[in-house]
Amino acid sequence: MKLVRLQKEKADSSQVSGVESWGIATESGIFDLGCLLNTCPTMMDAIKDWESIEPKIDSLLKDAPECAASSRILSPLPESGKTLCIGLNYRDHALETGAEIPTEPVVFSKLDGTRCGPDDPIPLPEVSQQVDYEAELVMVIGKRAWRVQEEQADDHIFGYMCGHDVSARDWQKGRPGGQWLLGKSFPNFAPTGPYLVPKQYVGDPCNLGITMRVNGEVLQDSSTNQLIFNPWQLIAYISQCCVLNPGDLIFTGTPPGVGAARTPPRFLRSGDVCEVEIQGLGVLRNPVVAPNA
Ligand code: ZN
Repeated sequence: MKLVRLQKEKADSSQVSGVESWGIATESGIFDLGCLLNTCPTMMDAIKDWESIEPKIDSLLKDAPECAASSRILSPLPESGKTLCIGLNYRDHALETGAEIPTEPVVFSKLDGTRCGPDDPIPLPEVSQQVDYEAELVMVIGKRAWRVQEEQADDHIFGYMCGHDVSARDWQKGRPGGQWLLGKSFPNFAPTGPYLVPKQYVGDPCNLGITMRVNGEVLQDSSTNQLIFNPWQLIAYISQCCVLNPGDLIFTGTPPGVGAARTPPRFLRSGDVCEVEIQGLGVLRNPVVAPNA
């Protein structure tokens, strides 16, 4: 089951912004379910009320209108809530870099303004010469989590999606003050989507193929079976310290093959097209564009 967040054009063309809804992508098209549910018109509503909506999906689909071609697929979650990320969380990546396997997760975050959806451009910042790609499995929180044990953590996960943790290495490493925050927080540095797949439809999240292609060339190719800390361990660890809320995102780390680790380094250039593909979660494609493009 592939959920999408949608922006539909308003019937009145004098209105510039579209109407948000959510729906399901199937082999025969994308169908709008939000328009059928007065109490759950948005993806966030659907996530919070999923237990009551899910049993009705098949019958809703029979009445759901197909989306017009002018509809846009947005990032599955809107720009609200926390965007947390895990550093150095793949065994094969740790071995490649010669780093010690971490004994505790390395947690950092991305600021508001970073989330964007499929096909949205990633602008190269004027102040960075080292913009790098990172394919990542992203988990989406479905229920508030505070001091949750690993054994109960799955109850708090809504689902999974593809994510791209775009990273300005020259701002991540060494400056400012050794903090990663700014290097990870330029506009559109957290593309996600195109689909949000509820966890029941993902299979084992710790056994999914994950790749990054740039202009069709495979630069990262691994499996989430290399994760050092799995999704449930991450929720247990993080929720000791901060409350996780519905719609919060956790980027779970990236496999080997990032541009900075290559000889010579391979940083993103204007005109590149990045594609994150995770087994069962679709392909997240974003073009890289020049500053101010
Ligand atoms: Zn990352």
